[in-house]
Amino acid sequence: MTAVKAYAALSPATALEPFQFERRALKPHDVLIEILFSGVCHSDLHQARDEWGGSIYPMVPGHEIVGKVVLVGEHVKKFKAGDTAGVGVMVDSCRECKPCNDLLEQYCVEGMTGTYNNYERDKSAIAQGGYSTMIVTDERYVYHVSGQLSLPGVAPLLCAGITTYSPLKFAGVKAGDKVAIAGLGGLGHMAVKFAVAMGAEVTMLSTSPSKEADARKLGAHHFVLSTDAEAMAKLDSRFDVVVDAISASHDYEIYLKLLALHGKLLVVGLPSKQPQVNPFELIKNRRSIIGSMIGGTKETQEMLDFCAEHNIVADVEVIPMQYINEAYERMLRNDVKYRFVIDMASLKS
Ligand code: NAP
Ligand code: ZN
Ligand code: ZN
Repeated sequence: MTAVKAYAALSPATALEPFQFERRALKPHDVLIEILFSGVCHSDLHQARDEWGGSIYPMVPGHEIVGKVVLVGEHVKKFKAGDTAGVGVMVDSCRECKPCNDLLEQYCVEGMTGTYNNYERDKSAIAQGGYSTMIVTDERYVYHVSGQLSLPGVAPLLCAGITTYSPLKFAGVKAGDKVAIAGLGGLGHMAVKFAVAMGAEVTMLSTSPSKEADARKLGAHHFVLSTDAEAMAKLDSRFDVVVDAISASHDYEIYLKLLALHGKLLVVGLPSKQPQVNPFELIKNRRSIIGSMIGGTKETQEMLDFCAEHNIVADVEVIPMQYINEAYERMLRNDVKYRFVIDMASLKS
């Protein structure tokens, strides 16, 4: 067992606070990782505050983890001490069903085991996430990280990165496609980077006029205020793909209207309130709405390799662990460019 320091939510209504617990002793396929950086996803806030229901406490959030391998179990093949490694949103799955065999473990028929806010598969403990100094994870759900990328910027790739890369690949986005991204947050800014790297003509749809210059710096070719009905009407039936990366409740309607023939609304944002969909807008242009959950182990490694090849990392603001509650408030005020990343050294001292 390894004693670790962490920050946890003890209830939906209380701020995160210092917390200590023990990581399990290494099983033969486990890897012990010293966490260096941990990204702050809006899903952390949704779950810490029980906005989706069913949250399990105490909860150590964090599923955008990057660090150094310290120790490996006796049967570990993929890693050795000293390697740079990442852990994302999923730490286990049944490993027997069709999705698991297809390396789409996030769609495991029994349900994947989340990095936190889940019980371990053997029910021995509550799985705890990356706002902590160490993590023990089965090597199947651990990824190699290129030493050439800036590590704080790598952490958000483990959720924001794969969650936007996967649907863009699934939709077959290619050079020349017209792609719009709705919501310039942690996920949205990665979606812009990936769509640009895939050669698409990218339009940012945002509620924040102040983000136009940044959107263009990220590579977006166009910027449209989604609150400007006239400007949005001009985009009617224009896009092959719209990525919905919005964290707050909203209807799909205004984004659905933007899709051309066979256009796809790729939904990754997870507000708690159900959206409205007008079936007349759906049948027009034979549009579809496609949901997408993170990515499987194979595609996550592929995404990290793609990032190393194209020199892609997240734009981050590095914070100490002690700043997390203020960071959550700023995330709700839409005041983050574009991902908070916790420097875990702040917990070790
Ligand atoms: P974030 O950094 O807080 O960004 C959310 C963005 O949504 C904001 O920057 C804002 O962009 C836009 N927004 C906020 N309020 C809005 C409103 N009332 N109307 C329209 N747009 C609004 O959040 P994130 O970490 O990127 O996460 C986004 C969502 O994806 C969350 O719900 C999260 O739980 C979910 N998620 C899903 C998966 C998955 O597997 N599918 C994985 C991770 C996260 P503008 O200022 O540009 O409008
Ligand atoms: Zn996330
Ligand atoms: Zn399975």
